[in-house]
Amino acid sequence: MIEEIIINLYRIEIPLPQSPLKAVNSYVIKNSERNLIIDTGLNQEECMDAMQIGLKELGVDLRKTDFFITHLHPDHLGLVSNLMTDTSEIYFNQPDADRLKAGFLWDDFVSFARLNGYPEKEIEAVGNSHPGFKFRSKENLVFHILKEGDTISIGDYAFRCVETPGHSWGHMCLYEPSKKILVAGDHILNDITPGIQLWSDGWNPLKEYLASLEKVYGLDIELVLPGHRSIFRNCRERIQELKHHHEKRFDEIISILGKGHKNAFRVASQMSWDIIYDSWDLFPVLQKWFAIGETIAHLKYLEEEGVIRRETQKQRRVYSLNVNP
Ligand SMILES: [Zn+2]
Repeated sequence: MIEEIIINLYRIEIPLPQSPLKAVNSYVIKNSERNLIIDTGLNQEECMDAMQIGLKELGVDLRKTDFFITHLHPDHLGLVSNLMTDTSEIYFNQPDADRLKAGFLWDDFVSFARLNGYPEKEIEAVGNSHPGFKFRSKENLVFHILKEGDTISIGDYAFRCVETPGHSWGHMCLYEPSKKILVAGDHILNDITPGIQLWSDGWNPLKEYLASLEKVYGLDIELVLPGHRSIFRNCRERIQELKHHHEKRFDEIISILGKGHKNAFRVASQMSWDIIYDSWDLFPVLQKWFAIGETIAHLKYLEEEGVIRRETQKQRRVYSLNVNP
């Protein structure tokens, strides 16, 4: 599905088969000299087909096209390797580029999951279905790195880079101040809550995410172009809702840990998730996996705030309420 949002700025919906996200929004800005495509889809046939149909209908010549990728997740970055040409710039951020370069070892995820109480028998099933490992981009992409305040000018548009870490290490939005548009990637979504997950030690993604929400709250925005689902206008209201969502999560975790110490898996199994399955045991393994990642991000935040504490017992991490916060 292709639609013109504003003059020369189009959205192509790229389907994500079997994903609860349903589709990723790819934005195309047409210009006589160079076109710009923002986010691309998975490195998968269905995505490539939809993209090609859309670009053909718009008359976009890939030989005159550059790319901006909001963050490293494969539903945004994966397809770029199939679309780029010799002349393409791929605009991207440094922290996510560093992560890609370092590579992702499934074993590292497995040991972190194990440490957090994830059941042994389900780990293999996750490995077989995780889209991040199946449909990622070809390796060794050469990026044109952008930082906070850098500008991409294209026709009538001058997009300013806004670093919004949290959903990923270096997530970046684009802000067009004269048109009051925010290209939000997965920083702010309207119909679903952006996932903030933690799968390694060494950072506090939720703390960074909440600071990034605060930062975007300060911008004058009339139209948000998100990475998934519907385009929307009420940016500040949505930011308040997202902050409230995380505050509720914190309260929920504090109440769960109030009944005794638990590992992250146990905490996650007792939280309320916005999902169609009747009980935690019926969740598909991948949904459980994402729920654990979310839970660990919240636990990390509460731990750094001094509200809860973490101990390691028999190579398993256990959390409890801090009696002297
Ligand atoms: Zn996404």
